[in-house]
This record gives sequence, C-alpha cells and structure tokens, in this order.
Amino acid sequence: MHELRKDILLGRWVAVLSDSKSPTDYRLPFHKNEESSCILCPGRENETPPEITSIRNHGTYPNSPGWWVRVLPSFKPVFQIEGDLGRRGVGIYDKMNSIGANEIIVESPEHNVRPEDMGLEHMIRVITLYRHRIADLEKDSRIRYILIYKNSGKEAGELFSHPVSYLMATPVIPKMVKDELDNAKQYYSYKERCIFCDIIREELRVGERIILETRNFIAFCPYAAQFPFVSWLIPTRHYCAFHEITYEEIEDLGLVLMTVLKKLRKIFNDLPFNYFIHTAPNMVPRRNHWHTLGEDFHWHLEIMPRLIRTSGFEWGSGFYILPTSPENAAKYLREVG
Ligand SMILES: [Zn+2]
Ligand SMILES: [Zn+2]
Ligand SMILES: [Zn+2]
Repeated sequence: MHELRKDILLGRWVAVLSDSKSPTDYRLPFHKNEESSCILCPGRENETPPEITSIRNHGTYPNSPGWWVRVLPSFKPVFQIEGDLGRRGVGIYDKMNSIGANEIIVESPEHNVRPEDMGLEHMIRVITLYRHRIADLEKDSRIRYILIYKNSGKEAGELFSHPVSYLMATPVIPKMVKDELDNAKQYYSYKERCIFCDIIREELRVGERIILETRNFIAFCPYAAQFPFVSWLIPTRHYCAFHEITYEEIEDLGLVLMTVLKKLRKIFNDLPFNYFIHTAPNMVPRRNHWHTLGEDFHWHLEIMPRLIRTSGFEWGSGFYILPTSPENAAKYLREVG
C-alpha cells in the first residue's frame, strides 16, 4: 500500500507511492490516449474497472453502453478503500496508510465534447453525480475530505483525452483546505459572520470584480487572486457542504460554470485550466471538532486558468505576482459574449 507522510514543518501530507519510479520513467514522453483507442468511449465498458454508479438510459445495464455519466474507480489509485488508517509514528515523523478513494467521473459518452458545450441538461447530470458521490463517501468515518476536480489540457495535468473529472477522498484534510477552514473559523469567532457571505456582500456592493450573477450564484474574480483570470463560483445562500445543493441550485451552477468556461475559451481559445470544489470536511463527530463549521464555512468552486508558469519567486515565497488585475480580468470576462 502507498503511504502518507506528514511534513512536520508545514503540516502538509504527501502520498509516497510504493512502486517508486526510476529516473528514466520520468523521461518517457507524455502519452495521451488517442481517439481510436480511448478506453472511456462507449463500447469498451468491460475493459475498465467495474463502474461505481452511472446515470444511464432506462433499460440499459451497468458496464454496458447507454450511459450519460459514469463513475469508475481510478485505474491507478493512490488511495484505497480497504484497510485501516494505521496511524503511527516513526522516529519524530508521522505516517499512515493511504486509505481513501480515487474515482474518475466520465462526463459524457462523447469523446470530444467540452464541458461548456455539453448542454445544460447534461451538465446537470454531471453535477448531480458529484453530489451523489460526495454524499455517499461522506458516510465513511475514515474519510476526512472529498475533493472533486477537473484537469483540462496537458499543462493542467489531464491524462485522458475523453472528458472526465476526478474525485479524491483522503483520510486527512488537505493543507490548502485546512488553511481556508482555519481562517474562516477565526474570522467567525471574531465577527460572528461567515467570511464568504461577507465577501459575497462586498463583491456585490463594489461590483467591479463580478463576472455574472444569477438567482443562486455569483461568479467573480477574487480580490487578491493567486493567478490571472482565476474565478470563483459561490452560492449566495449560506451552507457549508456542497452535497446539500438543491436541484434549482445545480441548474444554476451548471449554467454559471458553462458560461464562465465559454467566456474563458472566447478570450484565450484552448486554455488549459483546473477547477475544484472546496466543500466542508466530513463532519464526523469527534472530540475538539469545532462546532461552528456549519456557520463559518461556505462551499465554492474555483476555476484556475493555467496562463502563466510559476517561478522560483512564487515557489520559494508563496508570494504571487498578478499580471492582470482581478478588476480588469472581470471586465474582460463580463464583456465577452
Ligand atoms: Zn473517448
Ligand atoms: Zn456563508
Ligand atoms: Zn477555496
């Protein structure tokens, strides 16, 4: 089994794979599945690991064609569902087994469709499965966090040429999420208000960083974004866990997500990007678990275009330089049709 190790200086966990790559393995050219040999296309269902769930036409069977969205276990999982956490110390260090889940959400039977071109009805199915998978894995008390994300384009870490998103369920809360949670909690304990609700109110008041606004969501460029053209999609109703999303909100999220991705494509053409959902961690009852999580955290989706490469300055300092201001980025995104 792979092993999780904690960086005791930064409080960050890393997964160390048991089948270590040799230096030559890193020199292999990037291999992308060619269209003719795509294992995720309909007709090759029996060659993939058995599906976990799917949304499919009535009268069709699992692991056969007729699906609209299909969820599979990862082909090469980093986290595995069987076993115990095995938390232990080695000298001064901490480690544990890599318990969790890795899933691939095959977004469409169509090989070349982009998320923004899927059509709203189909995007609703994709988001419905996101919710369904999180709600299902949340019941496992060994799992602390579930991250849904998408890689689009080679530079963004995409492995398949077929449209997919991914799910990673981890036995620890990832550092980046933990930082958001800690800051939100601290803000709440001081002001007794959700920091995200305050950000929404401020962005709506100022208006210049808003990309679009619907009944249930706003999309905006964050005030101090890490990268140019980063945008956030956030529900205007306060709730911390993504899987509490209503049908009406799913419809709205689908529309806003497709619209922002379409706008980015109009401006940049074939832009590599990632998006991910930051939802609340699993609320397993435990000692010292904070009780204001429901009030202080607010789920959101972050779209991160991969426009610039990070230099030694950013890596060495965690200090980012933003070549386009969020106000200008939002203006470009608002104005493009
Ligand atoms: Zn395909
Ligand atoms: Zn809130
Ligand atoms: Zn976030």
